[in-house]
Amino acid sequence: MKQSQLLSKTRKEAPKDEASKNAELLIRAGFIHKEMAGVYSFLPLGLRVLNRVNDIIREEMNAIGGQEILLTTLQDRELWEKTGRWSDEVVDNWFKTKLKSGTELGLGFTHEEPLTALMKNHVRSFRDLPLYPYQIQTKFRNEMRAKSGIMRGREFLMKDLYSFSRDEKEHSLFYEKAKLAYMSIFDKVGIGEMTYITSASGGTFSKYSDEFQTITDAGEDTVYVCEGCKIAINGEVLEGKKECHNCRLSDLKERKAVEVGNIFNLGIRFSEALNLTYLDEEGKEKFVVMGSYGLGPTRLIGTIAETLSDKDGLVWPKRVAPFDVHLVEISDENNEVRKVSERVYSMLKKRGVEVLFDDRELRAGEKFKDSDLIGIPLRLIVSKKTFDGGLFEVKERASGKISMIKEDDLCGFARDYLK
Ligand code: ATP
Ligand code: MG
Repeated sequence: MKQSQLLSKTRKEAPKDEASKNAELLIRAGFIHKEMAGVYSFLPLGLRVLNRVNDIIREEMNAIGGQEILLTTLQDRELWEKTGRWSDEVVDNWFKTKLKSGTELGLGFTHEEPLTALMKNHVRSFRDLPLYPYQIQTKFRNEMRAKSGIMRGREFLMKDLYSFSRDEKEHSLFYEKAKLAYMSIFDKVGIGEMTYITSASGGTFSKYSDEFQTITDAGEDTVYVCEGCKIAINGEVLEGKKECHNCRLSDLKERKAVEVGNIFNLGIRFSEALNLTYLDEEGKEKFVVMGSYGLGPTRLIGTIAETLSDKDGLVWPKRVAPFDVHLVEISDENNEVRKVSERVYSMLKKRGVEVLFDDRELRAGEKFKDSDLIGIPLRLIVSKKTFDGGLFEVKERASGKISMIKEDDLCGFARDYLK
């Protein structure tokens, strides 16, 4: 991709009404556009990151038996009345709308109800179970405060998987697998080290749940962390003594954190209310045992921006970066540099390296500033000085490390680094 043709421009200042660091950086670097508080559009750079994050999530969900579906946003009031979740007193963040006829509809904030009802068409006997449908879909929540950029949207993406199992035993086997898959997702997107599992009693309708909390000052939750066990306890559920329930250490550290994922054992709360049953091996009718597994790709990107950026801008982990290499051309008078840039650009592209080529007519200083702000893992400089000596300067965005590389070795160097 040539930067002169890229739809978005970088900007020196973020919109005045933007209070969060993640949105400020992502807006300035041209990844997202703010429509209004808690509502953000994705531009080409941002969408590339989002697609890569979603690919990692899909990879992990498919590996544990997930099957991707796509449910609707518009929700039928009657269905939600059956589980007692239509009322605004019970669920305080519904967005609701009306048909011309006056019939009320909701905009989905989660999808247990419609999916449980849908599954009645597909689950009859024990042979049909277990099933693990999931989707990556836009959710709507009328959040009270939307001051955390894309970490708390009123319209945002959620990956929500639901498990349908024969019994508790089958359920908990999958639940444990999902936990590992989640940690693997957080590792791959680059926030594994900062992300802790916090177990909690799962609120009103489930016996247990686990949250995945990433440590960041931008988070709205407070957790108590046992660094040795990689376990955290949510401040909300902490009872009495602050003590790690694994190693019994009482020297837990208080930290701000954001919930990047949350998994629940739902038991038969929804299958009972909506009558989702199956016939077991003896022909007895039983309620399906369910679980739900939420994760926010857009919140994840906000969290990466918050935790991995530095004073100069974004710093993308390799697996989710919008491009692998930022080729920055420092042009000369007789267009010699351009020839070399084009040659290197096509060579890298041909060999599967994703390159953003800064071919704009700007001063070197400005280009470097933009490049720091955008945060692509490797910056390759093509200038008269470097190629006269036969060597190209390659700078790693995360560490600042500089290597001088021969043209023939550029591709190998990039590939090795990105591995
Ligand atoms: P919070 O306590 O932060 O509001 P929640 O408990 O309401 O989160 P869930 O209902 O469990 O969140 O949603 C599943 C996942 O969806 C969360 O772990 C998070 O990653 C994401 N998510 C929830 N609300 C938002 C939001 N407003 N904006 C972006 N992502 C969100
Ligand atoms: Mg919430």
